[in-house]
Formats: sequence, structure tokens, C-alpha cells
Amino acid sequence: MTAINPDAPILVTGGTGYLAGVIIAQLLDAGHTVHATVRDPDKRDRLAALDALAATSPGSIRYFRADLRDPEAFGPAMTGCELVIHTASPFIAHVADPQRDLVDPAVEGTRNVLTAANATESVKRVVLTSSCAAIYGDNADIAAMPERKLTEAVWNTSSSLRHQAYSFSKTLAEKAAWEIAGAQSRWDLVTINPSLILGPGIDPMTSGESYALITQIGDGTMAAGVPDFRIGAVDVRDVAAAHIKAGFTPQAEGRHILSAHNTGFVEMSAVLRDHFGSDYKFGKSILPKFLVWLAGPMINPALTRKMVSRNVGIPFIADNAKSRTALGMTYRPLQATLTEHFQQLIDAGRITSKQ
Ligand code: NAP
Repeated sequence: MTAINPDAPILVTGGTGYLAGVIIAQLLDAGHTVHATVRDPDKRDRLAALDALAATSPGSIRYFRADLRDPEAFGPAMTGCELVIHTASPFIAHVADPQRDLVDPAVEGTRNVLTAANATESVKRVVLTSSCAAIYGDNADIAAMPERKLTEAVWNTSSSLRHQAYSFSKTLAEKAAWEIAGAQSRWDLVTINPSLILGPGIDPMTSGESYALITQIGDGTMAAGVPDFRIGAVDVRDVAAAHIKAGFTPQAEGRHILSAHNTGFVEMSAVLRDHFGSDYKFGKSILPKFLVWLAGPMINPALTRKMVSRNVGIPFIADNAKSRTALGMTYRPLQATLTEHFQQLIDAGRITSKQ
């Protein structure tokens, strides 16, 4: 049982990130003091959305410079904090050097944040943003799982530096976190393991994989046909709320799958097409799997033949029961998540209609 003093500052790492922005927005709205680490606090334009929120909410924010690779960086930001929310980690579908660009920052960053927690007497709980990617690597893995679905008991065993390297980085980082947490008893660790996060962020010009995907569904990239990737999806506002519930629920423990809908690109395209109509360049037909297998690697280096074989057309099923019972989560409908996210892109001029 861990009770967090709501008046103590709360550290959120990766403050410029898509998810972190919404977590910070909810914390500020609830009147908390937020310590946000960012790679470069001198880039004021990256902080403009957070500054605007802080100016109109009851809470307050302080920025601290921290790179995940710097072992000394997180201590000053953590001083006085009882709750640490560690979201920062590279989320990039394709990189030149997976060890250097994904695994090292994810694992070293987690080690650095948790080593700082060990050295900071005030810290009582760390909420780590892990991922469903630490539970499964490919949809084909799910057939061999108990009851053929993702649960908190399962770990990703199929990813590697050469195959699904992002998922490998999240698996190694979460394992490192449990190892460090288990070696002490002053603070406890709770993980949030979201599936694909979608929904409007605090800054419509945000980059990152979630914005890239929703853009591609509507900008004509999939107009010739939608690849039948099946995924879990969850609203960013619900994932943010789960982090805060995980922080302030005294009995919270262990991992929590955060996934609202077992869905896929085909259903997501249909939901958006039904709402926004034919003015936008949504795909209608399903791209045959052999075409994705054949052309995928030429279109996107992340779409290797092995990745396509082990994912396209294969169901994704995750069990979110623990998030509902242990954290009291309720989830937004997929339609609201997708249409509100897409509308944000239209309003910001990032998506244009056919006309
Ligand atoms: P994002 O917008 O790309 O945010 C990633 C954050 O990590 C950014 O603040 C980034 O800083 C920071 N970061 C990356 N490398 C860093 C480094 N070397 N030093 C310091 N900071 C670094 O991605 P997101 O979607 O919000 O993801 C946030 C977390 O959620 C990640 O742990 C990700 O694995 C997890 N997650 C995301 C999804 C999803 O669908 N989006 C699903 C499951 C789990 P800069 O802004 O300076 O680059």
C-alpha cells in the first residue's frame, strides 16, 4: 500500500512527448506541481503547448534538462517527488541502428531513472510506461498464449534487434525496471502497458508514430488498399488517466494492459470514412496479404517479409480486465478517439480533403 502526497511535486519524464503532454495536462488540471524532464528546455517552441496549459490551470510546471543516456540528469528533477512517471523512451518504427537508437536509450534511460529513484529518499512509487509490445512481438505469438490473448502474465519472447526492435527495446526496458525495483523496498513499481495510443494530444503539430499512423489512414497513403494489420487501440486521454490512477491508487501493483479495442487498420479506416465521408482519401478495399508481403519492404523498411507474414490478417486480442478492476478504468469508444484525433489534424491543416 503506497499513499502519495498530492502536494508533493510529480516527475514526468519525456515532457515533450505525445503521451506525456496529456498526462501533464491532466496533472496540471488537478492542481499538481509537475517536474517535467525534456531533452532541451531551450527549445521553447517545443514547450509552448505545455506553457499555455500551465498558464490556465491550477497546477504549475518546472522544466529540467535530461537525456536518457545521462546518469546524472534525473536526480535534480526528482528532488522532493514521491511519484515518478517515466514515459520517455524512443518510439520509432524504423531506425538505422536499433541497438544505439532504441535499445540503449530505452534500457539505459530506465536504469538511470530508477537509479536516481534509489538515491532520492522522497520517492515512493514509479509508474513506468511500458507497452503491449513488452507482452507480444507479433500477432502470430498470440495463438500460443494461454486463452489465445494478451494478459499481464505473458512476456514478449519473439522480438530481437533484427526483428521488431522497438518491441525488443520495450521488453528489455521493462525487465530491467522490475529487476531494479525488486532489489529494494522503499519504492514500488507499477507498469502501464498500452496498445497503440491514438486520440488528440495537447499539440496538433506533434510528431511521432501515433500521429504518423492516423495521418497515413487519411492522407491517401492507403487509398489503393488498406493493409489488414490487426492491433489494439486506446485513447491517449485514457492512458494518461491510467498513469495517474496507477500513481495514486495505494494498492496498485504489477503490470496493467491498457487496450480499449481489438481492432485494425481496416476497421479504423471504415470508422473514419463513415464519419468524414468521401472528401478525404481513405482506403476502401483491403490490400491482399501477398501484395503487402511483396511490396512492403520497398515502401517501408519496417515492413519486412517476416513482419508481414507474422502479423497481417492475424487477430489481435488483449484482455484489459485488470485495468478495469484494479484501476477502475473505463474506455472511450473507438469512434470518439479516431474522429476527434482526425478532426484535430484537419483543424491544424495537417490533412486536406480531396477538393
Ligand atoms: P513520443 O511522442 O515520441 O515521446 C517519446 C518521448 O521520449 C519524447 O519526449 C522524447 O523526447 C523522449 N525521448 C526519446 N529519446 C530520448 C532521449 N534519448 N533522452 C530523453 N528523452 C528522450 O512517443 P509517445 O507515443 O508519447 O510514447 C511515450 C511512451 O509511451 C514511450 O515509452 C512509448 O514506448 C510508450 N508507448 C507508446 C505507444 C503509442 O502508441 N504511442 C503505445 C505503447 C507505449 P523528444 O521530444 O526530445 O524527442
